[in-house]
Amino acid sequence: MPATRVKVPLLDLKAQYATLRDEIRPVVDEVFESQWFIGGPHVTGLESEVAAYTGAKAAVGCTSGSDALLLAMWALGIGPGDEVITTPYTFFATVGSIVRLGATPVFVDIEPDTYNIDIGRIAGAITERTKAIIPVHLFGQCVDMTKLAQIACDANLPVIEDAAQAIGTRDAGGGKAGSMGAVACFSFFPSKNLGGAGDGGMVTTNDEDLAHKLAVMRNHGMEPKYHHQLMGGNFRLDALQAAVLRVKLKHLDAWHEGRRTNAADYRRLFAEKGLAEITLPTERDGVYHIYNQFVIRVPAARRDALVEHMHEHDIGCEVYYPISCHQQECFAEFGYGAGDFPESERAAAETLALPIYPELTDEQKACVVDTVAEFLGG
Ligand SMILES: *Cc1c(COP(=O)(O)O)cnc(C)c1O
Repeated sequence: MPATRVKVPLLDLKAQYATLRDEIRPVVDEVFESQWFIGGPHVTGLESEVAAYTGAKAAVGCTSGSDALLLAMWALGIGPGDEVITTPYTFFATVGSIVRLGATPVFVDIEPDTYNIDIGRIAGAITERTKAIIPVHLFGQCVDMTKLAQIACDANLPVIEDAAQAIGTRDAGGGKAGSMGAVACFSFFPSKNLGGAGDGGMVTTNDEDLAHKLAVMRNHGMEPKYHHQLMGGNFRLDALQAAVLRVKLKHLDAWHEGRRTNAADYRRLFAEKGLAEITLPTERDGVYHIYNQFVIRVPAARRDALVEHMHEHDIGCEVYYPISCHQQECFAEFGYGAGDFPESERAAAETLALPIYPELTDEQKACVVDTVAEFLGG
């Protein structure tokens, strides 16, 4: 039994907003008074601030993380007949964006400790049709970009970072997500570490020509007005989102630190319980993990019952992701099946994300750990 039972949601955005209300309301009012909803100073302001924050030369705002991926691949000319290498253990959009362009996803299994793509297996998946590699900095932990860059460079392939969960994570060499590939994609979905008041996304790159192309493509490929040399679409980030995100970006590093403190507290509290059946998240040496999620692993036979137990006691938790992408019905045409990516399948059966948001109290953290221990019998 926990010392004290308290409610713990998986994420508490109301608690965050309570600390931001006085900063957010004036900028929302300002956008409404200006009636400048598309483009404008908040969008360009956020773009330069995100470029500076990630260390990339340029940033282009767009509608969502999913569209950031689509736009990046489209701008790189990826389409039918092309293969794109990625991880099967990711949110659907990574793979969905490849397939929307008519290209073929080629999966490479994950490392069991970090859940990120197993870089050592990538070379074996490259063919003459491979056009790009998409690593996902899953749960907020940077992929080993130095090792990956070597493979990509040898094969002359662009790396497209799916940094949707990972704004602010740093690799062991100190480089930040978004500055180390050919192009990187971010999401401002509300549950990400930097979340908007709705959907939003960003593409970053060190290639100024590519940045220009992305900026033109996100507005119907239009340049100058009513002249279209390129195909594009409406992938614009709106001013209201940008204005809110600029306020929140100022707090982002403090929120990352809050999440990291919570992760350290969980490690200490779980160590005290001495639970043999639980595996805590691994941090790769030298990486700055931003803990978009704190994901534990338990035996597959007990995972779903643990989820039920947590929910019975008002503790939020979630399985990211219960089905590996290679087993999604809509990707059946690619011919993958059970057993093809055993580590990804095992992760889908064994993992569980616990609340890690920065506003968690000590009492809540203790209650989360006690409730897990109560079930696993510590
Ligand atoms: C959230 C997410 C996306 C998609 O971002 P949206 O803004 O929701 O479209 C893509 N990839 C990963 C890994 C994500 O977590």
